[in-house]
Amino acid sequence: MLSLVLRTAAMLLAMAGVISPQARAASRPHVVWIVVDSWRWDHVDVYRPGVALMPNLAQRAQNACVFWRAYAASSWTVPSVASLFTGAYPSFHGATMFGSTLRAEQILAPRLFSEAGYSTVAFSANAFLSKGSSFARGFAEFIDGNTLLGPGRKGKARAASVVKALDEWLGKRREIRGTPVFVYVHLMDPHWPYGPADEFLSQVLPRFGDPSELRRLIGELYFGPLRLEGEVAPDLQSAVRALYAGEVLATDRALEELFTVLERHELTRNALIVLTADHGEELFDHNHLGHGRTLYEEVIRVPLLVWFPGQRKRIDIHDVVSLMDLFPTSLELAGVQLKGDKALHGGRSLAACAPTSSWATRFQRWLRRKKCEDPSRTVIAELFPLKPQAATPPPHRAAVIRNSLKLLVASDGTLQHYDLMADPRELGRVELPSQGFKELEAAWTEFRKSLASAAPPAARITPDAATREQLRALGYGD
Ligand SMILES: [Zn+2]
Repeated sequence: MLSLVLRTAAMLLAMAGVISPQARAASRPHVVWIVVDSWRWDHVDVYRPGVALMPNLAQRAQNACVFWRAYAASSWTVPSVASLFTGAYPSFHGATMFGSTLRAEQILAPRLFSEAGYSTVAFSANAFLSKGSSFARGFAEFIDGNTLLGPGRKGKARAASVVKALDEWLGKRREIRGTPVFVYVHLMDPHWPYGPADEFLSQVLPRFGDPSELRRLIGELYFGPLRLEGEVAPDLQSAVRALYAGEVLATDRALEELFTVLERHELTRNALIVLTADHGEELFDHNHLGHGRTLYEEVIRVPLLVWFPGQRKRIDIHDVVSLMDLFPTSLELAGVQLKGDKALHGGRSLAACAPTSSWATRFQRWLRRKKCEDPSRTVIAELFPLKPQAATPPPHRAAVIRNSLKLLVASDGTLQHYDLMADPRELGRVELPSQGFKELEAAWTEFRKSLASAAPPAARITPDAATREQLRALGYGD
């Protein structure tokens, strides 16, 4: 109650112009964005209680806002995280290929937080988001995969190293008390190559078949002749799914440790905490493994949990939202001004979803007609060739979604219609599209027209040798 009184007083003084910028910054909430790479929504107990892979998160969700239908703006890291950092569609931020950089004039979330007096830091285990990349712009400190792994070590930087680095960083910064912090965390554990610790693998194997047979297949996959090419046998598919499930179980433990660290350093009390994925992961749903190739549900629908400042109860939102929304949402709740709303090109604030007992806030929302739920919302995800010299473009160019209807735009421009209510796995197209689909087609036409105002993409860069090595270890060839 006391902190509420102090914050209200700070707000009133700030409005009257008699409060210093430092005091204004101190009244702002901490903002923590946690992104889990390649994390499927249907492997989360919050959405599927029987899946039993993320029990700790299910507990934590009891005072979270659970978004049931959140979509990434693309199906792989670079364009999706660029949309998260800019609130813009991939066509507008232009970071759509391997080596893409964000344009110098692009306004990124960390820069805005930094200008508003926030201490900004990133812990990224993803090699695309490295210290030398344009994603590091605006962060005072950027701890990347090379640092997390340590000299000479290759492969995937594990969540435990991220949590340890975060704990150490917060421990050394006692002075941040009184200064709001913007923390970006990017975990890589569920990303290929899957290799969970045996403690987790042994827990999930019995759900996928005979554990000893699955272990034999996994051994042959990593050290023997088995390859994941062409038609993959059903028992090998099960072995791969078990490995992935093991990684998700391990991520649940890591997230719990991360939340404990945030609590220990008092970063949960007056804080906006966002937990999501940059994209999902296909586990042979449409005969492939991985992501960045299509825009089916398994790669663009993602978990999204938001703990708004002071939230005590769980809230469930079933309308379609986009990860681009997190940029304006976080800025609004932090009281950070975005210069020129039009620069967003896609994202829309979900701040109205934050619970409030304040009459003033409710009245303001009513005055501005700000609603959290919006059943008429249309979201779009986009995909471009990963390399300019790609021999064939990916099968999908865009996905346009409203309610249960989804339009998939193929790379040659042809349209495929899906009703996710009747066909959640997108196994059969709707042959006679209804009026609802006409509206989606009109939304796609409108979007294409708006692309005329999109700036050209920035030049591509070649990552340094250590980052290229990390990318190779994650399955990205040169
Ligand atoms: Zn990713």
